[in-house]
Amino acid sequence: MGAICNSATDNYASAGIIGLNVALVLAERGLGSRVMVIAEHLPGDTSIKYTSPWAGCNFSAISGSDANALRWDRLGYAQLTRLESLEGEKSYIKRTPSTEFWDEDVPHDKIRAMSEYLEDFRILPSGELPKGVKFAVSFTTVTLNAPKYLEYLHRRLRDQHGVHFVRQRLSDIYAAFSDNNTRIVFNCSGNEAKTLGGVEDEKCYPTRGQVVLARAPGMRRNVMRHGKDYVTYIIPRPGSNGNVILGGYLQKGNGDGSTYSYETESILDRTKKLALELSENEPEILAVVAGLRPSREGGTRIQREHVIVHGLERSLVHNYGAGGTGFQAGYGMAIDAVQSVDDILSTLKSDKLRLKL
Ligand SMILES: Cc1cc2nc3c(=O)[nH]c(=O)nc-3n(C[C@H](O)[C@H](O)[C@H](O)COP(=O)(O)OP(=O)(O)OC[C@H]3O[C@@H](n4cnc5c(N)ncnc54)[C@H](O)[C@@H]3O)c2cc1C
Repeated sequence: MGAICNSATDNYASAGIIGLNVALVLAERGLGSRVMVIAEHLPGDTSIKYTSPWAGCNFSAISGSDANALRWDRLGYAQLTRLESLEGEKSYIKRTPSTEFWDEDVPHDKIRAMSEYLEDFRILPSGELPKGVKFAVSFTTVTLNAPKYLEYLHRRLRDQHGVHFVRQRLSDIYAAFSDNNTRIVFNCSGNEAKTLGGVEDEKCYPTRGQVVLARAPGMRRNVMRHGKDYVTYIIPRPGSNGNVILGGYLQKGNGDGSTYSYETESILDRTKKLALELSENEPEILAVVAGLRPSREGGTRIQREHVIVHGLERSLVHNYGAGGTGFQAGYGMAIDAVQSVDDILSTLKSDKLRLKL
C-alpha cells in the first residue's frame, strides 16, 4: 500500500514510490506522525510484486501528454532537483546531462511544455542528428538510484517526520481501516490494484521491462531513443561507483518476471549503438532483471471514494496506475491525492501544533 492516515496516526498508504510520496506530502504538511505506511514489501526488499526498486531511473519525455501528466512532470522535476540541491549525494539523485532521440511520433506538445522548465533545454539542429532520428532534445535531467532512493525516503520519513512503517499483507483494502481511528486510506497498491479485494480494477495491467545492470564508469550521461516499437535507454546510477542501467522494453500486458538472454543481447546491441562510451569499453554485466510497470487503461487513477467501514464514514483515496513514470510523476500525483481530502486534513493538528500543546 501507499500511505494510511490514522487518527492516533490519521492516514495510511503503501511503500512503493507512490505511497512514499503520499507520506512525504503529508509529512511536509506537518502530519508525519499521523501517517502509517502499511505494506507487504518495504524499501530494501526485492520482489516481482514490488516494482519500484526495478526502475531505471530517470526523468524523461516518456510520460503522457495530457494536462495531468504535464503538471505532474513539472512538479516532479522541481521536487527532485530541489532535493538534489539540498541533500546532494545523500539523496541518491543526480543532475545528469541527457539527450533524447525520436525516430518518429515526436510528442511536440509535451516537449514544448517541458522546454519551459527543464534546465539547459536545447533542440538539437538537424545536422547533429544520427541516422534515422527525426528529432532530438538535450537538457539536464535527474537520474536516481531507485532502490537507494527508496531507502533514503524511508529513513527520512521515519527518522525526521515520525512516519510509522508496518510490514503487513492486507487481505483487502478495508483491512487498512481496522483501527477505528483511521479516517483516510490512500490506496497505492500498484499492480495489485487489479486483484486487491475492494478495488479489483479490471483496467490495470502490467507493462514488462527487462533491464541490464552493468558497470561502465565512463558512461556519465543519460541517453534515450524512442522508436516506433521499441525504447532504448542508458541511465547512469548515482552513488553506485560507475554502474548504469541499460534498457529496455515496454511490453504491454506481459506479467512475466523471468529474464531472457536474447533480450539482454538486444539491449546491449542497441545501447552500444547509442553511446560510444559503451561500444569502446565493453560494459561488465552485473545483473539482469525484469520489472512490471503498473499500467492502467485510461491512465493513472487518483480518486476519492466515500466508504462506510464498521458503520463509520471514511475516505479511501485511490492513487495507482503510474505505469513507467512513478518516480517522475509520483510527487505531483501525491499532491493531487492529498488535496482530495483537504477538508479532513485541515481539521487535524499538525505535529508542530501538537508539540506546542
Ligand atoms: C524496468 C522499469 C524501468 C522504469 N523506469 C522508470 C523511470 O526511469 N522513471 C520513472 O519515473 N519510473 C520508472 N519506472 C516506473 C516505476 O518504477 C513505477 O511507476 C513505480 O515503481 C510504481 O510504484 P507503485 O508504488 O505504484 O508500485 P510498487 O512499487 O509495486 O509498490 C506497491 C506497494 O504496495 C504494496 N502492496 C500491494 N498490495 C498489497 C497488499 N495486499 N497488502 C500490503 N501491501 C500491498 C506492496 O508491498 C508495495 O509496497 C520503471 C519501471 C520499470 C519496471
